[in-house]
Amino acid sequence: MFIKFILFAFLTLSPLYALSLSNKMVEDHVWGSGETLLAFLQENQMPLKLYYEMDSEDEKLLADIRVNTIYQVLKADDGSIEQVLLPLNDELELHIIKGNDRKYHASVIPIIYETHQKSLFVTFEDIPSRDILNKTENFELSLGIERLFRKVINFKKVRLGDRLVVYYTEKKRLGRFFGEQKIEAAMIEQRGKKYYQFLALDGKYYDKKGKTTNTSSFIVPCRYKRISSKFTLKRWHPILHRYRAHHGIDYATPTGTPIKAAYNGRVIFAGRKGGYGNCVIIRHPAGYKTLYGHLSRFHTHVGQRVKTGQLIAYSGNTGRSTGPHLHFGLSLNNRWINPALKIVFTKGLSGEKRRAFNASTKLYIRKMDNLLKANAHCEKMDSSLQDLEENSTLGTTKEGV
Ligand SMILES: [Zn+2]
Repeated sequence: MFIKFILFAFLTLSPLYALSLSNKMVEDHVWGSGETLLAFLQENQMPLKLYYEMDSEDEKLLADIRVNTIYQVLKADDGSIEQVLLPLNDELELHIIKGNDRKYHASVIPIIYETHQKSLFVTFEDIPSRDILNKTENFELSLGIERLFRKVINFKKVRLGDRLVVYYTEKKRLGRFFGEQKIEAAMIEQRGKKYYQFLALDGKYYDKKGKTTNTSSFIVPCRYKRISSKFTLKRWHPILHRYRAHHGIDYATPTGTPIKAAYNGRVIFAGRKGGYGNCVIIRHPAGYKTLYGHLSRFHTHVGQRVKTGQLIAYSGNTGRSTGPHLHFGLSLNNRWINPALKIVFTKGLSGEKRRAFNASTKLYIRKMDNLLKANAHCEKMDSSLQDLEENSTLGTTKEGV
């Protein structure tokens, strides 16, 4: 109830929200490397108990704030802080507000997005990422599209006149692109051959025939009894009455269980890390990193190159942990993602999910074909108009046409 009230108050009465619309008074700040909430509170003469009174899960979220996250600060005329809005991941943000009692209150609330269903059509003229950026100004989207097709086509071989169609949902926070844009369907036509990627109900991408091309070959890093906690960016906890997030998978396993590298890479961290306790971080190719938390013993050191399946540590119960388990985190370009989507499974789509996939795929392909036809027609018109211009002594500008 309390959070709901805050949220309601925030949406309807909040000066930050109102002012953000007029772009006044709200300062944008960038979360730097090594920055902490404690230091932020100290710098701004705010009570440190805002940090100390947080529970361990919120504290873990704070430790995971991405470097370069843009956050908002609303100040009063005397320079004191009225409100702070600090994104913790793609779904939750920390809201600090000075109440009518002149005291600060902190809570974790869902990020309010504007979402828009969009379609994108590109005929490549330059480097694909540049063409996509020119049309959308959305860097995350262009990254997402390249990642989606990385294993399907060679982007260096995309030629002038190859085409791209994408259906996606665009997310904006306070008027700015934020978080990952959800691509629902995409097609690249390379030298007349069409390559498709469709998002299915299981959160993975499949080609037209329902074959998955995007599973990376990460393995489950240990033997385990059960999964005690799944990955989530935003979950309403019905008993605690709070929003929770869990940036990994917890595998319940007795202390001393061998932990293996989930993929080839180089160890970039082996030591204590806040709530994760004893922890190993491995950097893998293509922007991936894995994190192994709550370990009892290390069997590796920083700088070591490791192979998939190689012993790196033993599981334990160190850090913020309520029982022996392995916390396994996976990040892509420093953003936590669900490891379950990247672990090798042979199981494909079946049953209801398969039927839903077939139906939506059919619809998207029809939509894409129509879009391609419509644009091919426009291009023909365009080039014949250009021919006209070139031959015309009147010199109509292209913009004028
Ligand atoms: Zn965990």
